[in-house]
Amino acid sequence: MRSKKEKELKNLEKEIFSCKKCILYKKRNLPVIGQGSFKAKIMFVGEAPGAKEDATGVPFCGRSGKFLDELLKSVGIDRGKVYICNIVKCRPPKNRDPKEKEIKACSRFVEKQIEVLSPKVICPLGRHSMRFIMERFGFSDNIDAIGKIHGKVFKGKYMVIPFYHPAVAMYNPNTKKVLKKDFKILKKYAD
Ligand code: URA
Ligand code: SF4
Repeated sequence: MRSKKEKELKNLEKEIFSCKKCILYKKRNLPVIGQGSFKAKIMFVGEAPGAKEDATGVPFCGRSGKFLDELLKSVGIDRGKVYICNIVKCRPPKNRDPKEKEIKACSRFVEKQIEVLSPKVICPLGRHSMRFIMERFGFSDNIDAIGKIHGKVFKGKYMVIPFYHPAVAMYNPNTKKVLKKDFKILKKYAD
């Protein structure tokens, strides 16, 4: 028997596959919907799929995904225990930033994923996702540069903890160190 959550996510998946609400559907190969446990306490929200994600339909499976895996491993969290998705489901051409109108068109999907999965903690990865999640969940007044609020805990309907985007940190040893340190906070929320 399928759980209600599973059914709702399956329906959402169908909707995303046939979505043409912004132009990004035209050039993508596969939409990247999300992956992980339906019982996840922690949900990571990235920005938009890259080339490898577009080819496989799996979120964070390219180079920044490898680094995300490394971060999770460093705090003893199994990737299968969390849920990972993005704000925008289709890959922007040449990995450009998603446009405001694309985020607007797509965001109802991530909102639905959050509603259905109801995680304890939402972790936006990178400043674009941070801005969207914080505005959406009542922390507009707390929005600041990611360099200032990374690793901070914002408590509301959901707990929001923004992090640097792993893609940025990969090439910057200092940011990498900070991200590793910030991730330690997640240990207590994983189970
Ligand atoms: N970067 C993201 O923001 N999301 C992915 O899925 C991959 C890379
Ligand atoms: Fe639809 Fe989102 Fe893909 Fe745009 S990016 S076509 S809104 S699923």
